[in-house]
Amino acid sequence: MMQVRPLGGGVEVAEIIEFHAPTHDAGWMLPDADPGLLVSHRQILENRFWTPHTNRLVFTYKVWLLKTPDAVILIDTGCGNHKPRLSPYQSHINTPMLDWMRALGAPPEKVTHVLHTHLHSDHVGWNTQLLDGRWTPTFPNATYYMPKADYDLFKAHRAQSMGPEMYDCVMTDSVDPVVDGGLARFIDHGDEVAGLRAIATPGHTPGHLAYEFCHRGDVFLFSGDVMHSPIQVLSPSVNSRWCEHASLARDSRAKLLRRAVECDAVVFPAHAKGVHGWRIARCGDEFTIGFDCHHGTPTDEMESA
Ligand SMILES: [Zn+2]
Repeated sequence: MMQVRPLGGGVEVAEIIEFHAPTHDAGWMLPDADPGLLVSHRQILENRFWTPHTNRLVFTYKVWLLKTPDAVILIDTGCGNHKPRLSPYQSHINTPMLDWMRALGAPPEKVTHVLHTHLHSDHVGWNTQLLDGRWTPTFPNATYYMPKADYDLFKAHRAQSMGPEMYDCVMTDSVDPVVDGGLARFIDHGDEVAGLRAIATPGHTPGHLAYEFCHRGDVFLFSGDVMHSPIQVLSPSVNSRWCEHASLARDSRAKLLRRAVECDAVVFPAHAKGVHGWRIARCGDEFTIGFDCHHGTPTDEMESA
C-alpha cells in the first residue's frame, strides 16, 4: 500500500509499504528498554506502535519515494521480493511494489537516485530483482549511493548484529549486482545529492546516514534506523538489538533529535507508518513527539512524554 503527501512546487513524498503488523517482541528488539517503559507511555504507543497484550512492536517495512521536478529518488529500498532471509517477515516475500511505484508515476526506469541510509537487508532489497534467475538492478538508470563504512564492514563479514552468513547473502543478491554494474557511488557526511544532504549518524551501523531535504523553508529528515519506535524519541538511550555500536547509536540519536527540534523538521522514520512523519519538540530535558502533523499547524497535536 502507499500514501502520498504533496509538498508543493511539484514535489511530493510517498511511503510505499511492503509489510505492516505487530511483529517483534518488544523485549527482544529493544533490550535496553525497561519492561515498564512502554507501559508508562501506553497512551502514545498503544495499538499504533505497540500491542500491550502481546508485547509486540508494530513494525513497518517500507520505501520512501521523493519526487521533485528534476529527480525521482528512493530513500532505501525495503526488503525486496523473493530474497532468502533469516527474518520470516522479509524472507521470500512477494509484493507488487513495482506496480505501486508505476501508479505513483515512478516506474523503475524513471528512478534517478537511490540513497541508502545503511546496508541492512531491509534497506537494500529492491536494489535488485530476480530476472531469468539472476539478481538484476531494478533501477537501471539510477545511481545508488551507499556509505562506504557499511560496504567495507559487510564485505569483511565483521558485522555483529545479524551474523556473517546473512551479510554475505545480502551483499551477493542486493549490493554486488549494482556495484558490479557500475551503478554505485559512495556517499559521506555533508555530501549533497538531488537536493538531499547526508548527515553522519553512526552507531546502528558504522556508516549510517540520515538525509535532510529542505524545501520552501521546511526541513524533512529521513532518519533511517536511528529510531525504530517512538519510544526511542521519548527515551533516546534505548537502542535496538541491531545497533552495532551502542554508545555511538545513542549519541547519533540524541544529535538527530536535537537537530529536528532546532530545524522544526518533519522526521520520516524507516519503520513506522505515516506519510506525515513525526514532529519532535523539547520539554525540559526530554523530547516529545507528535504524529500526522503538518507544517504550520498548532502544536496541540503534540503528545507529551
Ligand atoms: Zn531497518
